[in-house]
Amino acid sequence: MNKDLIVGNGVVITLGEDNKIEKKSAVLIRDGLIEAVGADSEIRPGAPEAEYIDAGGKLIMPGFINAHHHLYSTFARGLAPHDPPPYTFVEILERMWWPLDKVLEEEDIYYSALIPLIDCVKKGATTIIDHHESQGYQLGSLDQLARAAREIGIRSSLCLGISDRYGKGEEGIEENVRFIEKVQSASPAEQKMLTGMFGIHAAFTVNDDTLDRAVAAADRLGVGFHIHVAEAASDEEDSVEKYGLRILERLNEKGALGPKSLAIHCVHINDREMDILKETGTAAVHNPESNMNNAVGVAPVLEMMERGIQVGLGTDAMTSNMCKEVQIANLLQHLEKRDPRVAFVESCQLLLENNPKIASRLFDQEVGVLKPGAAGDVIVIDYIPPTPLNEDNFLGHFLFGICETEVITTVVNGKVLMKDKELIGIDEEKIAARSRELAAKFLKRF
Ligand SMILES: [Zn+2]
Repeated sequence: MNKDLIVGNGVVITLGEDNKIEKKSAVLIRDGLIEAVGADSEIRPGAPEAEYIDAGGKLIMPGFINAHHHLYSTFARGLAPHDPPPYTFVEILERMWWPLDKVLEEEDIYYSALIPLIDCVKKGATTIIDHHESQGYQLGSLDQLARAAREIGIRSSLCLGISDRYGKGEEGIEENVRFIEKVQSASPAEQKMLTGMFGIHAAFTVNDDTLDRAVAAADRLGVGFHIHVAEAASDEEDSVEKYGLRILERLNEKGALGPKSLAIHCVHINDREMDILKETGTAAVHNPESNMNNAVGVAPVLEMMERGIQVGLGTDAMTSNMCKEVQIANLLQHLEKRDPRVAFVESCQLLLENNPKIASRLFDQEVGVLKPGAAGDVIVIDYIPPTPLNEDNFLGHFLFGICETEVITTVVNGKVLMKDKELIGIDEEKIAARSRELAAKFLKRF
């Protein structure tokens, strides 16, 4: 276990149900968990042996959580197909993402993951829920991601998105089962840092037979599904045409939904499907930047939240920067509704309230809040408020000021991964150099 750590002399923002903002305060982390939060003058004498990080009056917050990432996407950088560029969502998949994930090899997967994990450290995203695809190298693929997550130090939930698009659904099930069993046999402390979900690519790429077998396996393992739902209208059309059911009707009938499952995107779901999310307690995850980039539409985020559906925020690998994503979430709803009054609070809720709830379920511990017993994930943000900052106006500062400012220190599970903008124990240049070598070889296979 790491030495006790105090991040102190800062403005502590606890988040959680009773968000408190206190100046000259500190957070003490012991054995990966928050031991105490309080005045610097009280915390510091209570743990004289602890390593002390002086936040210099800056903000001390819980680390951010990304509820939908794709670590494997790194080699897509600079790869945009053209002549002509893909237009529909399915073309983007068929000409970009599927050929990419089909030729990823073992070391590619590992290095692809290291790069965005380093970005997570820099941007203060201390927990990620990842969805992996590598049709050409499925068995053992999640071990490569786990190795990268462990080495960089980011709290991670991993899964492989099973798909029948190349007839490898059964192999995908095998990998999810193998990995989840392995994770579940690890020590309780390890399971707080690394956990598994059962991944499905999307409804339109899994047949009923594969879906049935996946549900049986996930039930046996006691885990939920992480699946893309109705990202494009074509996904819904495919479901209705093949099965006579809309996507969430089909997934519900098959038993794939529930409080442990995540339905990603939900751009084109209808009222009945929103009812199903609510009835089953399934959380949805909004990825506004990706939806805009792929021009697939705008998810009914506010409608889902009004119904009491838990909606989280992910980046779909567009970025590891949750601050950028939350700002986009807000602006997208303003534009969609042609109403500047909407979504300000809700956008922040996605990231600051709902992602912590989603992650806390998956990791079986409180994540995303500064209070005793919660995960020891803390960031320091270089923010100097130009107007009074208090609990009542925090979200305004957050969305328009804090999110514009750099994360300078990142701590996960009580371990310092970045201090005053310097990565600790991570050789970024060396990792990027090897990534470029592998990407050059990968390009020849692509
Ligand atoms: Zn995705």
